[in-house]
Amino acid sequence: MKFVPTKAPLTGETLASLTERLAARGEPAFRAKQILEWVYKKRARSWDEMSNLSKPLRLWLDETFDLVPATLLLDKQSQDVTDKLLLELRDGSLIETVIIRAPQEGVGVDHSRKTICISTQVGCAMGCVFCASGLAGLKRNLTAGEIVAQLLHVCYREDALTPRAKAEMASFDNIVVMGMGEPLANYDALVQALAIVNADWGLGFGARRITVSTSGLVPNILKLAEQPIGVRLAISLHGATNEVREKIMPVNKAFPLEKLLPAIRTFGETHGRMVTLEFILIEDVNDSLEQAEKLRDIALDLHAHVNLIPYNTVEGLPWRRPSGNRLERFARVLDAARVSMTLRREKGHDIDAACGQLRLKTERDRGALGPDSAANTEA
Ligand code: SAH
Ligand code: SF4
Repeated sequence: MKFVPTKAPLTGETLASLTERLAARGEPAFRAKQILEWVYKKRARSWDEMSNLSKPLRLWLDETFDLVPATLLLDKQSQDVTDKLLLELRDGSLIETVIIRAPQEGVGVDHSRKTICISTQVGCAMGCVFCASGLAGLKRNLTAGEIVAQLLHVCYREDALTPRAKAEMASFDNIVVMGMGEPLANYDALVQALAIVNADWGLGFGARRITVSTSGLVPNILKLAEQPIGVRLAISLHGATNEVREKIMPVNKAFPLEKLLPAIRTFGETHGRMVTLEFILIEDVNDSLEQAEKLRDIALDLHAHVNLIPYNTVEGLPWRRPSGNRLERFARVLDAARVSMTLRREKGHDIDAACGQLRLKTERDRGALGPDSAANTEA
């Protein structure tokens, strides 16, 4: 299951690790910075563009590193606000990266705020019963370089569509780690990728604009709380009692609410910032008034923000979203207690749902891969 690429992805290197590799070749210390500037600021797509490097060095780089370890297969633009990039990794695995636009009043869609939803694994081992990402289990973890590569591909695309105010800036406003996979089950690669995305020599992207979503791996929530990088945290709660939660999320057996809730509190206190509780509403599973009351109490107790997400149906799974009335009834319980809350109603406009239900095509159905197959992944 461990994937060992033939060439190291350059997008997985830190300034320190690259400096070290170059020093072993007798290169001066500033060389690594020069190379990373080409990759992250000038968005060079090939070694030959790096005109201030010698030809022998460029040859060595080409033999040693994979500049961006993913190839763009499809750029699926929708009429809606979500666009998707289908990327092929070096072992043939496919992942999707979603670009969600939130148009701003009075300006065209090209100037909308952009949130990028990235994946951290091919598949997922957590087995949440409602989720498409885990249906075929876990194939493998993504490497840090593959996680970062998704964002560079978005930059390449967005740079071409919308000229940036400052050439070296990232081409988007927020990152949500809510695509395929459980980020905290691929902890080391996640943290390495976040460091690269955040560093000045990397994408220089602010940690407060990055949200990591987890199904609730308590030990790694606590580890992430200790990291100097202060990313935002979202918890996929989806059940306000153990009884309901463990029916749909097997992770609740290992980390029931009496372990999860204190970990959320610790994270929030360490970073002095509200944690988000995501709650997908599924008809007759977790949409009762009793669940609403329990969720209200949890949110008030943790000073957490609640994101209510009507379930997006997944082909082949029996779960449905509740009726509009039931959604409103649920939301009113939280609202009445002044819980900080969002309820998104429009299908496809919802960030969490749009990326949460990524359905990746595995090698099994690659034969069917054509212009239309990406449309099957529509949120
Ligand atoms: N593994 C992490 C992050 C990826 S899932 C996690 O579980 O948090 C991102 C979000 O999408 C999660 O809240 C997940 O529960 C949600 N999700 C999964 N399937 C969904 C669906 N069919 N409709 C709406 N949200 C879904
Ligand atoms: Fe994995 Fe998250 Fe889907 Fe659960 S909801 S199966 S943790 S991707």
